[in-house]
Amino acid sequence: MYKIIFATGNQGKMREIRAILQDTEAEILSMKEAGVYLAIEEDGTTFMENAIIKAKAVAQALAGKEEFGADCVVLADDSGLEIDCLGGEPGVYSARYLGEETPFAVKSQDFLRRLAGVADEKRTARFVCAIAAVWPDGETVTTLGTIEGRIGHELKGDNGFGYDPIFYLPEYGCTAAELTDEEKNAISHRSRALEQMKPELMKRMSRKQI
Ligand code: IMP
Repeated sequence: MYKIIFATGNQGKMREIRAILQDTEAEILSMKEAGVYLAIEEDGTTFMENAIIKAKAVAQALAGKEEFGADCVVLADDSGLEIDCLGGEPGVYSARYLGEETPFAVKSQDFLRRLAGVADEKRTARFVCAIAAVWPDGETVTTLGTIEGRIGHELKGDNGFGYDPIFYLPEYGCTAAELTDEEKNAISHRSRALEQMKPELMKRMSRKQI
């Protein structure tokens, strides 16, 4: 069976990834489940660079192991929020903004404060997700998914995570934190990037079977 190893320790991401990639019929493992315990420094300047750094680090850790053969691939993602009127902040620093341990409600309030007085049409923002796939022979494929929205005026909703309560989706008339998991997964930046990656994975899986 084809094996997809995802370079994350985040169980929420694993659930979403398993659901989206279910029809590939591959076995989907987290890096820990594949026996890789690495703290990877995400020192890239773009989401894409960071996704490639993570996928390559895990592929390197698995290199030479019998179980990381031609029927395996490592995937990694990097994601975050870009606010246009702040020059794309917090970008690759989304998780680290005001410190890794600071609650997202505090980070979000800080952005609301910084955007005080900014008109709705200038509050445009997006969530971005870059995904990198690295095969044992070094072949690398990347995809990018985005979802456009606006920064709201208050925190709203209890679902989701991170900056969801301030990410307003005009066409839904609510924030990302007011959507159910299912609704959010259907339109999220991560699912869009994964959906684009799926045919690339399928192509190589069938190549392997020939
Ligand atoms: P990473 O992709 O795990 O490095 O973390 C990305 C960071 O971006 C998260 O900690 C959140 O702050 C933010 N982020 C990424 N995706 C979402 C989302 O779907 N909703 C809310 N915040 C997100």
